Amino acid sequence: MVEKDTTIKELLARNRELQEQLSFYAHELESSDKSLTQLAYYDTLTGLMNRQVFYRTLEHTLTRSRRYGELFAVLAVNLDKFKTINETYGVEGGDSLLKEFSRRLTGALVNNGYIARMGADEFGVLVERVEDIDECAVVAQKINDIMKQPFEVRPGVDIHVTTSVGIATYPTAGQSVEELMKNADAAVAKAKEMGHNGFQYYSEQYDVDARMRLSLEKDLREALEKHEFELHYQPIFDARSRKVVAAEALIRWRHPSQGMIPPFDFIPIAEKSGLIVPIGKWVMSEACAQCVRLRREGFSVPIAVNLSAKQFREKGLRDTVKDILYENNLDPRFLTLELTEGALVHDVERCREILVSLTNIGVQISVDDFGTGYSSLTYLKKFPLHTLKIDKSFVDDVLQENQNQNIVRFIVDLAHNLKLGVVAEGVETEAQYECLRDMGCDKIQGYFFSKPLPEKLLIALLKGQ
Ligand code: C2E
Ligand code: CA
Ligand code: CA
Repeated sequence: MVEKDTTIKELLARNRELQEQLSFYAHELESSDKSLTQLAYYDTLTGLMNRQVFYRTLEHTLTRSRRYGELFAVLAVNLDKFKTINETYGVEGGDSLLKEFSRRLTGALVNNGYIARMGADEFGVLVERVEDIDECAVVAQKINDIMKQPFEVRPGVDIHVTTSVGIATYPTAGQSVEELMKNADAAVAKAKEMGHNGFQYYSEQYDVDARMRLSLEKDLREALEKHEFELHYQPIFDARSRKVVAAEALIRWRHPSQGMIPPFDFIPIAEKSGLIVPIGKWVMSEACAQCVRLRREGFSVPIAVNLSAKQFREKGLRDTVKDILYENNLDPRFLTLELTEGALVHDVERCREILVSLTNIGVQISVDDFGTGYSSLTYLKKFPLHTLKIDKSFVDDVLQENQNQNIVRFIVDLAHNLKLGVVAEGVETEAQYECLRDMGCDKIQGYFFSKPLPEKLLIALLKGQ
């Protein structure tokens, strides 16, 4: 009897144990299942839905909208200059920006729709049951508004970040999910092109633009062989003596049917297609030959050429520069290479190496459009540089006593402390000139003194002074 009793007790105990174990496993199973789901459907960093889920959601919305004749909108949202931020503040800085951005986005659009992370710095927003197209602008504005507060990318380091938003609405901007996504992306690219921190609706004009770009690219491939490029030279003046002390070579394209095409319209195409490398080589070669011709006429005028970021990173750059100087028998001090700040912020160590290899040849380096980039001031000290060119945007309202005036003053002092020269660009009036001269700018470039000139007019100007 006692024995039997024990056995039942034992059995009951064993049973309880087994049940506890079972429920433990069941719980484990359930939670691991959840995290698998989590992994498959949600972005681990931000917790937002991922691309696949977003596409599926869009498919559902598309089906319903078709059936009930509803409108909806897809917004492509991009953080501006994310790559630079990531490179400057490291992956941790980039990640914390993405997390905080996602948090703010979710908060701002809580009543507006679905949000997904589509790529590194790319987000998608689906706004359902849109009554009126203008509603999308309100949503886009909400997104731009959440950027007004700075983001802390490192303890104590706050930076300002902007976004660009592209909007594609169903059914006008696309009949399928793929088409809508493609067109939202085209619109965001346009928003970036128009200057960051804005939004753009997709328009059919983009297709026309894209076709135009393709046809221009085709023509651009042949332009070198057909000798359709020419260089104009914008003189750079000494701020005190008002004499020409240098000139900047600026490329022009005489298109056979479209006439003169300004560089802003074709340099970006040349950069994207890689054509900028042979074109840039031609520019450098032609500018050096011009400099030698001027010296023969008795004018010592160093020439500056613009180097695109792509050229700057091209492997054979140092040898190309050396060869061109040698072929033209030009003293390297007479060649200046202008690089934008943007070309110098990625991979600071590599930049320094390239710059050292160039300055070892003896050429001069200018930083173009200075003040517009994300540069940290520490790199300025690290790099072998000669000149800073203050961007036209600061020169434009240098006469108003405001922040711009302080920026100009700051750049001039900074340059002089680092023993660099300062050129003010885009000077259009006498008042601007006087103000910049009095602030200590060494050299002046701009329409007030001279527009870019063809070779003959440049020589005439030099002879006249
Ligand atoms: P950038 O290097 O900043 O050149 C200065 C631009 O400002 C030139 O425009 C010049 O004509 C213009 N500019 C000068 N002074 C004034 C002024 O007082 N007022 C106004 N409104 N504009 C002024 P451009 O020749 O149209 O060149 C535009 C840009 O195209 C250049 O900007 C440069 O980034 C690029 N570019 C030009 N030539 C080349 C080249 O050979 N290679 C490369 N990679 N880029 C080039
Ligand atoms: Ca320039
Ligand atoms: Ca410039």
